[in-house]
Amino acid sequence: MNTTGWRKGLRVTADGTGIVSHAGVMLVRALSDKTGLTAGLSKALATGRLLVHDRGRVLADLACAIADGGEVISDFRVIGDQEELFGLVASVPTAWRTLDEIARGGERALGKITAAVNAARRRAWAQIVARHGALPGIRMADKTLTGVTCIRLDASVVTCHSDKEGAEPNFKGFGLHPLLAYCDNTTEPLAGMLRKGSAGSNTAADHLTVLEAAITAVPPAFRRRLMITCDGAGASHDLITRLDTLAARPGYQVIYSVGWELGKREKAVIAAVPAGAWQIAVDERGEARERRTEDACGDPGCAHRRCWIEEAHVTELTGLLRESPAGNQLDGWPEKMRLFARRERPHPGAQLSLFETADGWRYSLWVTNLPEHTTGWRGQLAYIDAAHRVHARVEDAIRTGKDCGIGKYPSTALAMNKAWQAAALTAATLLAWLKLLALDGPLARAEPKTLRYRLLHAAAKLTRGGRQRRLNTSATWPWAADITTAWDRISALPQAP
Ligand SMILES: [Zn+2]
Repeated sequence: MNTTGWRKGLRVTADGTGIVSHAGVMLVRALSDKTGLTAGLSKALATGRLLVHDRGRVLADLACAIADGGEVISDFRVIGDQEELFGLVASVPTAWRTLDEIARGGERALGKITAAVNAARRRAWAQIVARHGALPGIRMADKTLTGVTCIRLDASVVTCHSDKEGAEPNFKGFGLHPLLAYCDNTTEPLAGMLRKGSAGSNTAADHLTVLEAAITAVPPAFRRRLMITCDGAGASHDLITRLDTLAARPGYQVIYSVGWELGKREKAVIAAVPAGAWQIAVDERGEARERRTEDACGDPGCAHRRCWIEEAHVTELTGLLRESPAGNQLDGWPEKMRLFARRERPHPGAQLSLFETADGWRYSLWVTNLPEHTTGWRGQLAYIDAAHRVHARVEDAIRTGKDCGIGKYPSTALAMNKAWQAAALTAATLLAWLKLLALDGPLARAEPKTLRYRLLHAAAKLTRGGRQRRLNTSATWPWAADITTAWDRISALPQAP
């Protein structure tokens, strides 16, 4: 057999016509147009000057390029190359100029862009509900909470090696330190603040600003029942007070779940928890997080490290702290605030505090205002824990977000990178809408890399006949039907005014 003969007589030339590379980008571009995002951005960035390239179109196209995997502004050429399909697309210098104009417009320009995205989100979510019957629920272990919109706040460090404005040393290295808010139901980013590297993980003022922006980003019809999560030892007085105020508004329900520091008084209280008050935690499948090794000893409740693969418990600390011999240790915090603790057998090699090392457990603490009288699974300790662990999914969102523009900021100027971040968050938003409005099965849950490999980067042939243009994807492309179905679904969406 000739295993290398395929190259025989093969000539490679650069003179093909009618070929569209990355043809799947048309899906996100059409979605941007249909939801009114493109038109909204166009209005937001309109100037009195006569311009060849509408700045809203340029920004929408930049978002499409980032959704497609573009990491630097010069990757914009991929879309610019498809004039027969997309019409006149701005050049790379025009894309730079557009970001520069947004940067010079400062917070005012960014605010207008945000408003345009939020207006498009109202239409997109209405269509998501039309297609699925409701917004996706919030997964908590084996259960799903429906009818509630979940906002998760998290700060993340983006490492930068070059000499970027605002790149500063921080606890994870050197770089920028954006604070982001994601919607757990749809996985899309709702708000983001690009901060200097030295910005704190728990800076209350930043959290309040991003929280406010995230709530504003949620379409009004979905703001009545909110769940808000924040990790780290994020429970600053200002943040909890604000959440408590939000929760007290008549006609609104806000349940928060915020990380809490393991301090001296908490350690003392943990030591006083009766053994029977720790209840078993549950995993993603709703099964007890309790697994012993095959050669474990005969005592099923033993404390030997080597006998356990996994063991995790939950308990409530509120009563012990509020009614401690030293008085109410949660004095000054909202009355409805409850404190919980999870203890887990640490993974081998996990970093532990001295207290945890002495004790053999690793602890996570958080506070919530979930009412004590909450009935059903939602009120059970194991699910109060699962509800807080929902927060861990924000890390997936940030990881995929870093794959989608926020892992690499293109400029040395902070204001330019803020403009780029606006495009990047729009890109991630478009991909989330694409999945919920036009895709099925595994693709509807896929990460950006998979969507690109299978859909966005697919090639197609553009032909003309009569007054029509036809775009043919290859009949043998494994995801050809997914592309045509998605196109039909997007085409069937109502056109936003
Ligand atoms: Zn043992």
